[in-house]
Amino acid sequence: MRLKKWFAAALALVTAFGLTACTGGDESTKEAASGSYVETIKQRGKLVAGVKYDTFLFGYKDPQDGQVKGFEIDLMKELAKRMLGDENKLELKEVNSKTRMKMLQGGDIDLICATMTITDQRKQEIDFSRVYFMAGQSLLVPVNSPIQSVKDTAGKKVATAKGATSGKNLEAVEPNAKIELFDNYADAFTALRAGRVDALTTDDSILMGMQQQDPNFKIVGGQFTQEPYGIGVDKRNKDLLEYVNKFLDEIMQDGTYDNLYKKWFKKDPPKDLPREAVQESPTTK
Ligand code: GLU
Repeated sequence: MRLKKWFAAALALVTAFGLTACTGGDESTKEAASGSYVETIKQRGKLVAGVKYDTFLFGYKDPQDGQVKGFEIDLMKELAKRMLGDENKLELKEVNSKTRMKMLQGGDIDLICATMTITDQRKQEIDFSRVYFMAGQSLLVPVNSPIQSVKDTAGKKVATAKGATSGKNLEAVEPNAKIELFDNYADAFTALRAGRVDALTTDDSILMGMQQQDPNFKIVGGQFTQEPYGIGVDKRNKDLLEYVNKFLDEIMQDGTYDNLYKKWFKKDPPKDLPREAVQESPTTK
């Protein structure tokens, strides 16, 4: 009898501890488990988006006025407007290729909209929306560089960002390239401009922004991977994922997406943007 009581007490303790551990974390993650995460965001009155601050055209903090601007910022403003009735009910948090997934899983941000490629490997950890942008990996080199294709990077120093698909992709295509990893693309670009590396590799969409900022560089080598971007959502928040997918479908149908695309990229969006990621790049297999 006494033993039974002791056992019951121990069981209660373990259960209580287990429950605490499960619901641990910040407010947003706690509520996520209980049901509608979109409701949680609405009650909070603010959508928290993880975006880039150093990626011209997508998410870039303008040193002139301190504002973060870009295609992905406008997408997030539109989402906040449709979800919360006001595009200003948006809080931006800076992420980079290395921090974004951890910040999402830790409940620091509600979603990731940060030039993030949908890969099978990442899909095991987080959910992705439908594809909203299609990029491909390429190379940025000084205008007078002898590098013309990815094969020419053999024995050359090539910069990219930690946590990105780019380093592994290049390794797979040209194993003799000397890859140098930086915390973010701003640092990688600084190294290229200073001549400390011979090339920079990442998505052509990002390289385009760098090239616009500094015409002493050119993009070479074509696209040697496919990088379909998706909005990242925590696996626990399926209703948010559904909301985001509906939102993307809606803006692609009502012309908002086309207008934003033209605003930032000065051309029409591709007609054949797939819904699902095409798993063709070395790191997406
Ligand atoms: N789209 C690639 C990736 O998700 C490269 C760009 C980035 O690092 O954000 O890794």
